Amino acid sequence: MAVRLVFFGRQGAGKGTQSNRLSAHYGAPHISTGDMLRVAVANATPIGLEAKSYMDSGQLVPDEVMLGVVEERLAAPDVAEHGFLLDGFPRTVVQADALGRFVAIDVAIDLQVPEDVVLERISSRRVCQNCGRIYSTEAPPASGWTCDTCGGEVVQRADDTPDAVAERLAAYANETQPTIDWYASAGVLVSVDGLGSLEEVTERLIVAIDARLAG
Ligand code: AMP
Repeated sequence: MAVRLVFFGRQGAGKGTQSNRLSAHYGAPHISTGDMLRVAVANATPIGLEAKSYMDSGQLVPDEVMLGVVEERLAAPDVAEHGFLLDGFPRTVVQADALGRFVAIDVAIDLQVPEDVVLERISSRRVCQNCGRIYSTEAPPASGWTCDTCGGEVVQRADDTPDAVAERLAAYANETQPTIDWYASAGVLVSVDGLGSLEEVTERLIVAIDARLAG
């Protein structure tokens, strides 16, 4: 069965981690636009060069750039077969509208975590530069700052600085919250409490998504 999910949550809400777990559960590819852009920046592609300054300062990359990136990814055969779990897209009503013209969304998830909790999580977050696996200063890799999965270097994200984080939270409130409201009006939004252990939150998400998929 192909499921088409979009996943909302503030930076640090656990969206990336939970998306990976849900992707394994539903067999749908996890498509993170943030991860795709970070790869483009690391490879200095034209899109990466255009996106870098926006990303470093915590601003949104322009819609037309994002639409090109996502449309190309959604045209891949694994998406036709298994659907997708979109993480970090859409972030604006323009993006949601464009996505809706391209494909119908089964469920939009809003993973809710209060702002004071995400601020705390972001300051301790560390990420594998190579595969994107997420760690924290409290739960580091087994050996030094080397990724347990791929051996890549685990670092703090360039945009996890206080100024960029403030900018990203403002963009979330101003641009992304109206996008979430847009899905609520369309009747496909489920809101899930993001506090608790990894396993508890995953279980809660699966129950909420399955209920919605069952109609
Ligand atoms: P993320 O890893 O999802 O927090 O994304 C990191 C950064 O990539 C964001 O702060 C934006 O600069 C950029 N970005 C990722 N997805 C989008 C999107 N859908 N629209 C605009 N900018 C995006």
